[in-house]
Amino acid sequence: MRPDRLNPLFAETASLEGVGPKLTKPLEKLGLTRVRDVVYHLPDRFVQRRAVADLDEAREGEQIVVALTPVEHRAPRNDRGPYRVLAKDAKGNTLALTYFGRASYTAKKQLPVGEKRWVAGRLDRYGDMLQIVHPDHVATSSAGLMGHLLEPVYSLAEGLTQPKVADLVAQSLERAPELPEWIEPGVLDKHKWPAWRDALVLAHRGDHPLSRDRLAYDELLANSLALLLVRADNRRRRGQPLQGDGRLRSKLSLPFPLTGAQRRSIGEIARDLARPHPMLRLLQGDVGSGKTVVALEAMLIAVEAGAQAAMLAPTEILARQHYETLRQLAAPTGVNIALLTGRDTGRARESILLGLLDGSIDVVVGTHAIFQGAVSYRDLALVVIDEQHRFGVSQRLLLTQKGKLTPHTLSMTATPIPRTLVLAQYGEMEVSKLDEMPPGRQPIDTRVIAAERLPEVVEGLARHIASGHQAYWVCPMVREHETEDIAAAEARFAALRHRFGDTVVLVHGQLKPELKDAAMERFVGGDARLLVATTVIEVGVDVPDATLMVIEQAERFGLAQLHQLRGRVGRGRAKSVCLLLRSGELSGTGKHRLALMRETQDGFRLAEEDLVLRGGGELLGTRQSGDTHFRIADLDQIQRLLPIAHDDARLLIERDGGLTGERGEAARLLLYLFERDWGVQLLRGG
Ligand code: ADP
Ligand code: MG
Repeated sequence: MRPDRLNPLFAETASLEGVGPKLTKPLEKLGLTRVRDVVYHLPDRFVQRRAVADLDEAREGEQIVVALTPVEHRAPRNDRGPYRVLAKDAKGNTLALTYFGRASYTAKKQLPVGEKRWVAGRLDRYGDMLQIVHPDHVATSSAGLMGHLLEPVYSLAEGLTQPKVADLVAQSLERAPELPEWIEPGVLDKHKWPAWRDALVLAHRGDHPLSRDRLAYDELLANSLALLLVRADNRRRRGQPLQGDGRLRSKLSLPFPLTGAQRRSIGEIARDLARPHPMLRLLQGDVGSGKTVVALEAMLIAVEAGAQAAMLAPTEILARQHYETLRQLAAPTGVNIALLTGRDTGRARESILLGLLDGSIDVVVGTHAIFQGAVSYRDLALVVIDEQHRFGVSQRLLLTQKGKLTPHTLSMTATPIPRTLVLAQYGEMEVSKLDEMPPGRQPIDTRVIAAERLPEVVEGLARHIASGHQAYWVCPMVREHETEDIAAAEARFAALRHRFGDTVVLVHGQLKPELKDAAMERFVGGDARLLVATTVIEVGVDVPDATLMVIEQAERFGLAQLHQLRGRVGRGRAKSVCLLLRSGELSGTGKHRLALMRETQDGFRLAEEDLVLRGGGELLGTRQSGDTHFRIADLDQIQRLLPIAHDDARLLIERDGGLTGERGEAARLLLYLFERDWGVQLLRGG
């Protein structure tokens, strides 16, 4: 239960004055559903204004506050023209206050002819006339404006204005209580950081790097604490030691020798499994690095030890693909593998459930369905999770309640994550890396092409399809622009369908699962020749014949994501080609990025580069999965402060593992504040 003193912060935004139904949508769009979110909606930047006695004192381009007297209103000559109010300053200089569209209504009300007004805005020139376009403020006295010469600029959504957000922030700060200090006093002193509430107030009031750092540190500390609590909890739990005797693994007849990296990872996993504590391990490796075989070996160890294993995939199609692969590979071992998805109903489902319960099924592959309430296992000892970042830590904790003892978990991801961020995202796990590709892989031929040449690309695609191959067409989908992006993908799909007929299928995140699956199945089965998709996950299946991929607006993806995408291009006999379409003229860094995609196939190098170029958001999978990791800390702060926060958290847990001391209690508040309260829930069990 959340401590009462945090209740004012978790009240809904609708409880603030002046928030009616009209604002619900824009506030939601910004993620501001509770008072807590509003206090943490920190300004993007600040505008510094200068009060001037008259326009002679001001420079063009400067943000000013000046007293003006309107002398004439000029309505536009046509529909699209601006509405202008001519006004004079104290010296008689004339200036135009210019309004477009409906803003002219406000102008009529706020600027009556002959009455002095204080106006704040940016001084510009239009021809030989000075002007201010859409003044930020118009006031009847100087008092209100002079107090706000430094003004925060917040990110907005349609339907919100700066003054409105500023007002909601002010109200929310009023409600924010003082909270006890959770940061180690030494760290606080050393950085000269203000207390939590002061830091919030200051961060909204002006450019206070110390306050911003403190708030970022809080977020990082909450994250580290929660992850360390998971790890500590895990150490306390008893797991089932799994000691395989090799009898099943020796029967595998893999058509290839394992790579050194695969052997090393299997060794690391086997050691973990033999321990009496549940394994928490991440297997990280590029697409095609051979994670499936590693997972299979791990699951066979569990079966050799007399237990069961489950493999969880993010989509039904992927589950089916894993199932087919594992069944083929494991055929010589005689292990009984089953597939269970949400689609299985009736008899088939009953028989699988029975098999899991009586132990006649050794390994089950499936979607979330394998962990639903009705599913019981005789002895589930290992859970393999494909693409971990789509299941949060909290969900994973739920999964682990299916075994008699806590099952071992092996998470697999193809997202290359640089070392700095591994700590932030997977701090509670050990990591095994497949940093060596199976031999004989050809690098994927990657080309960067301007979007203006799209017709040529479509003709190339036509030849590719005519020669019997399949292809992907990927459109970006970024959460902030979800609706527009889906519309764009649908338009592209319509155009391609016009050209290629109904061999083109579309898959995007908002499609009903049945439709999505049906489309994917047509593509995997080879009936559809071109797949238009918006998300990385949809491109997660292996289709050997799809040897061409076109990625539209490539500059909107992160490098690591592009790399992950292109890894999906089939490795059939035809040459694998990835075309990156870039729109318009790119800035220097944009070009450099994309150029790098041609030069290197090294996912980790690309991920490090991403980090430098555009921050960690994409890497942490936030943009595409909607699972925001850090909202306050930026990349620079993560790099500077995360190691300190991690040490701070470790010390605190060493001294006060139950978080019962004075600082421990404060740290609990912090966990709730950042909604890492699953960390607190673990404390209760321990
Ligand atoms: P990942 O899941 O990491 O993307 P997969 O496990 O699907 O990669 O493996 C990709 C392909 O490489 C599969 O066809 C697999 O059989 C093959 N493969 C795996 N390990 C090796 C190896 N050591 N040598 C050659 N081929 C391998
Ligand atoms: Mg895979």
